[in-house]
Amino acid sequence: MATESDLKTVLDGLAGTRGWQEDFYRHLHQHPELSHQEHRTATQVAERLADTSFDIHDGIGGAGIVGVLRNGDGPTVLLRADMDALPVREATGLPYASTATTTDADGSEVPVMHACGHDVHVTCLLGAAQLLSDATDHWTGTAVLLFQPAEETGDGARTMLDDRLTDLIGDVDVALAQHVLPFPAGIVGTRPGSALSAADSMRITVHGRGGHGSMPQATIDPVVLASMIVIRLQTVVSRELAPAEPAVLTVGSVTAGSKSNIIPDHAVLELNVRTYSADSRDTVLNAVKRIVQAECQASGSPREPEFELYDRFPATVNDEDVTERVADAFHRHFGECSETLPLQTASEDFSDIPDALGVPYTYWGIGGADPDTYRSAEAAGRVSDDIPVNHSATFAPVIQPTLDTGTQALVVAALAYL
Ligand code: ZN
Ligand code: ZN
Repeated sequence: MATESDLKTVLDGLAGTRGWQEDFYRHLHQHPELSHQEHRTATQVAERLADTSFDIHDGIGGAGIVGVLRNGDGPTVLLRADMDALPVREATGLPYASTATTTDADGSEVPVMHACGHDVHVTCLLGAAQLLSDATDHWTGTAVLLFQPAEETGDGARTMLDDRLTDLIGDVDVALAQHVLPFPAGIVGTRPGSALSAADSMRITVHGRGGHGSMPQATIDPVVLASMIVIRLQTVVSRELAPAEPAVLTVGSVTAGSKSNIIPDHAVLELNVRTYSADSRDTVLNAVKRIVQAECQASGSPREPEFELYDRFPATVNDEDVTERVADAFHRHFGECSETLPLQTASEDFSDIPDALGVPYTYWGIGGADPDTYRSAEAAGRVSDDIPVNHSATFAPVIQPTLDTGTQALVVAALAYL
């Protein structure tokens, strides 16, 4: 494991990376790409990595890039950044704002913006790569960098895993990742245990028997059936989970029928579930199926209901030991700027990778908001009004100290092992 003086020497390299990192960031911000389309971004990542000693593997699971630097005996640390942007029209007014548009997966022309800050993650990981590569006398082990496509669609991590990722990187000891969030730049936030929720969307089709609205006795009414299901689903969180176990089940869409005097032959419900542990996720999803099947039986439904799960994100549950080790290292390096991250209701697919590899992980937050703006908003009780959150058209992390902090955080956490 690197000493404090090794860490200091590695981080001294920031004076040399800061300049190109800021230019790279502005360029990447201006040229965002949607999930599964990150090819230009990947090319730029590979070009930048070519200046380091990392072995580069490209085209993994689409646009994914893997960099591996074997530097003697020691543990293997995986560091991951996501690369994709969102279909949002940028309204930050920044000189390097995106005006890009593209064709999305449905064939529609859409604006594109790095509204989630993945351009920060890519730039910080490239900076960390350069720092590690330039100071190999000051650490030992193997560093694995993962530039992942398609986080926003929840399938990029799995696509990389399905495309020989495990063979490429071999055994890994610990996996690390970070996200820029709407709190003051310069702050890092760690959290042991549950950090981000799992998310699952489900489309359910229930079947009835259609007919004339005046002759209900000849029909099986799927509108009544769907209504019973919506009401009964309200008991899943309230009656089947412990009061201290947070979860959300929302039926966001119910569709059936076309006219007041026609009883339709089917109804479609779409629901979204947020949970914080594998157990509660199983409990909720199984309860939904059980209730839907039972209500269909109660109505005399002529066919089994159909279930389709989509937009699925795993829960992010940080390993206690890894988080403690990284948080201690952050505390030594960042001092008071190392804080505890509150439980987040957002979701991420990062944990698919360590879960598939069977390795512990931790995922932390870095601030991106201008510290002065944040503190005056906080003093005025206007944080939620004045500080744009991820995915909004005005989300605009300040370049510094955000990039410096994110780059240092990756190196500090990696060198807590290497
Ligand atoms: Zn996002
Ligand atoms: Zn994100």
